[in-house]
Amino acid sequence: MSGANGRAASHARAEGSGGGEGTTPKRAFMALGVCEALAESAATLGWTAPTEIQKQAVPELIKGKDVIGLAQTGSGKTGAFALPILQELLEKPQPYFALVLSPTRELAIQIAEQFEALGVTIGLKSAVLVGGVDMMAQSIALGRRPHVIVGTPGRVVDHLTNTKGFNLGKLKHLVLDEADRLLNMDFEAEIDQILKVAPRDRRTQLFSATMTNKVQKLQRACLKNPVRVEVCGKYTTVDTLRQQYLFIPAKYKECYLVYALTELSGSTCVIFTRTCDGARRNALLLRNLGFSSVPIHGNMSQAKRIGSLNKFKSGDRSILVATDVASRGLDIPAVDVVINFDVPINPKDYVHRVGRTARAGRSGRALTMVTQYDVEMFQRIEHLIGKRMEGFANEEEQVLVLHDRVSEASRLAAMQMKETDSKKGRKRSAKNLDDDETLNNEVNAELGLRYVKGRKHKHGRG
Ligand code: AMP
Repeated sequence: MSGANGRAASHARAEGSGGGEGTTPKRAFMALGVCEALAESAATLGWTAPTEIQKQAVPELIKGKDVIGLAQTGSGKTGAFALPILQELLEKPQPYFALVLSPTRELAIQIAEQFEALGVTIGLKSAVLVGGVDMMAQSIALGRRPHVIVGTPGRVVDHLTNTKGFNLGKLKHLVLDEADRLLNMDFEAEIDQILKVAPRDRRTQLFSATMTNKVQKLQRACLKNPVRVEVCGKYTTVDTLRQQYLFIPAKYKECYLVYALTELSGSTCVIFTRTCDGARRNALLLRNLGFSSVPIHGNMSQAKRIGSLNKFKSGDRSILVATDVASRGLDIPAVDVVINFDVPINPKDYVHRVGRTARAGRSGRALTMVTQYDVEMFQRIEHLIGKRMEGFANEEEQVLVLHDRVSEASRLAAMQMKETDSKKGRKRSAKNLDDDETLNNEVNAELGLRYVKGRKHKHGRG
C-alpha cells in the first residue's frame, strides 16, 4: 500500500495545490458528495483535489447512475469509480459487493491497491483474481469473503466455475475497466459469462480510452441509461510532452538506441519493442553495455513481471524494456522518457505508450526511432495526434563511434538468449523465457566473458 500512497502523493504534488482558495483537500472531495471518512482517505493519499474525471463521474455515481467514462489511465479514473463504490459499501456492507474487470494482471493489482489504500480506514477486504498465480491462494482469499474483487475475466470465470461458495448472486457493482482493451483481447466470451450470472439490478460502470463499435455494443448490453463522462475524447498527447523522432538506417538501430540513451543519461526510461524477444534482447544488450535495464513482456511469468516492475519503480533499474503489455494500465509515474525502439503498428498504441511520461502536469519526452521501413506508420501517428514531431539532434559520426562496442554487446546478447533458451529447454519445455538475468552470469562465465555488473549505475539516475 505504501507504493500507492507514494505514487499518489507525487501525482498530487505535480498537480499543484489544486484544492482551490480556502478549500481543503478533504472538503474538495466532500463537495462531490463523498463522505467524510473517504474524503479523509483521499486527502491522506495526498490527493489535493479531485481530477477532472472524478469531478464529473463521482457525483453521478453517488446519485446511483450507471456511468460510461471515456478516460485513460493516469486520469484518476480508478478513484472515480472506487470512491462511490466504497461509499455505498460503507452504508450496506456485504461480501462480494463489487467486481472490477481489468484487461491485465498488472492493472488489476494496481486497482486493488487503490481500493485498499482508500478503504484502509473502513476495513475493506479485497481479492485479486488474475492468471499466472496459484488458484488455491486466490480461493482462500475468496473464502475470506472480500467486499471487492478485482480480476482479469478469464480467471474470474475460472473461479466462478471451480471455487465453491463464490458467486456473484448479490453483486451490487460491476466495473469494466479499459473496456476497449478487454474487448480487443478477446475477453468477450468471458465477459458474457460474467454478465449472465451477475444480477440485473446491479450498477455498472464502463471505462474506456476509446469508444469503439465493440465498446458501444457492450455498453448497450450492460448499462442502463448511463451518464457519459469524458475527459479526453480523442487521441491527444499533452502539451508538456516533447515528442521527437530519430530517422535512422535500420542496420544501425541498436547503435542509435545506445547513443540516445547516452544523450538522455540520468533519465528514467521505458523502451518499447514490438516483440518479446526484442525486449529480452535489448535489455540484455543494454546490460552488457553497463546500463541498468530490466525487461517486461508477455512471455514472462507474472512473478517475474512484477519483480521487473518493482525493480524499476524502486529505482534499482532506470530502464524498463517493455512490449505493449506494459504500455497501458501500468502506473509508473516517474518516467522521464519513453523511447519507441519499434514504431507501434497501431498508431493508437503510440498514444498509450507515450502516456507513461508527462503525466499529471509534469513534463516528459518521447523519442520514436524511425527506419526506412517505418515512415508510413510514423506518418499515421503524426496524423492521429495532429502534431508534427521534431527531430532528435544527432551526429552520425559520434553515433558510429559506438558501433563496434554495440555490435559486440549485441552478439553477446544473442548468445545469452540462445543459451538461456537451450538451458531452459533442457530443464523444462521452452516457456517463460524470462530467466535471462539469472542465467546471464552463468552463461557469461561459460563464454569466458565478464558481466559488467559494477557499471550498472553509470547511466542510471545519476
Ligand atoms: P489512474 O488513472 O486511476 O490509474 O490513477 C493514476 C494515479 O493518479 C494513481 O497513482 C492515483 O493514486 C493518482 N490519483 C488519483 N486521483 C488523484 C487525485 N485526485 N489527485 C492526485 N492524484 C490522484
